[in-house]
Amino acid sequence: MSATRRPLKSLGQNFLVDQNIIDKIIQTADIQPDQPVLEIGPGRGALTTHLAESAGRLVLIEFDHALAAWHRDQNKSLQHVTVIDADVLKVDLDTLLSETPQKWNVVANLPYNISTEVLFRLYGVHDRLARMTLMLQKEVGDRLAAPPDCSAYGVTTVLLGLWFDISRAFVVHPGSFHPSPKVDSAVLNFIPRSEARADVGNEDVFRSIVKSAFSMRRKTLINCLKSAEFAKHVDCAKLLESCVIDGRRRGETLSLEEFAALSRRVTEVLPITAE
Ligand code: SAM
Repeated sequence: MSATRRPLKSLGQNFLVDQNIIDKIIQTADIQPDQPVLEIGPGRGALTTHLAESAGRLVLIEFDHALAAWHRDQNKSLQHVTVIDADVLKVDLDTLLSETPQKWNVVANLPYNISTEVLFRLYGVHDRLARMTLMLQKEVGDRLAAPPDCSAYGVTTVLLGLWFDISRAFVVHPGSFHPSPKVDSAVLNFIPRSEARADVGNEDVFRSIVKSAFSMRRKTLINCLKSAEFAKHVDCAKLLESCVIDGRRRGETLSLEEFAALSRRVTEVLPITAE
């Protein structure tokens, strides 16, 4: 059967084989009756069977065509389960998650090679989410909770921190997977906030400022900002001065509030982007 074929390293296939951890993830996900659930990378279905039992609707996105076909076959009698045979990075999540009026519960043991990219996509649809329970490489999870001015603090910390309350549920050791990864993993809870943690003005501007501030870690903040698209229309030295931020600092020393202040100011002076 396709589900027993050798795991593909290229697709980050480290399958969960520890029933205790599987049960803990399902408990942590706290699926509500009739709630729509999205599972990214269902693999051999370690979590899927439990999710199908409690979800009102379950959408599976699996890039391994053989596994997607296997899930289709396994769930053919279940009307509420849909399998999407695709790369999650190419799926229009906004359209998918707008299919139901209810907000979605996302559950995933993410393929590590694309986990940061997936986090950005999920950040982009935060307003369609009720909660997320994600297994990540422990180091990636640690980054999400890192304070400013430490090496783990990065774009994901600032962007996801704006819209989610994030907490670590538990750590998972390599022996819980087949094959065993080289590093520890962690299951994290993401609870979307009803309001952003800070007023950032236009969110596209905010994203662009944060990404450019971290784009060249060895350069000063002012030099990083100058390379951003908005800098064509904004005097970065004046911008920093008006927010009382020293342009000689490194981007990774800025707090969320400081990024938000910069973003509000750029939004004000660039009214065309602030729709
Ligand atoms: N959920 C299963 C489990 O816990 O045992 C499998 C998790 S495994 C770490 C990651 C899964 O994501 C694999 O099934 C893999 O084929 C799938 N995957 C990898 N890249 C993907 C992508 N770009 N889009 C969708 N699924 C992907």
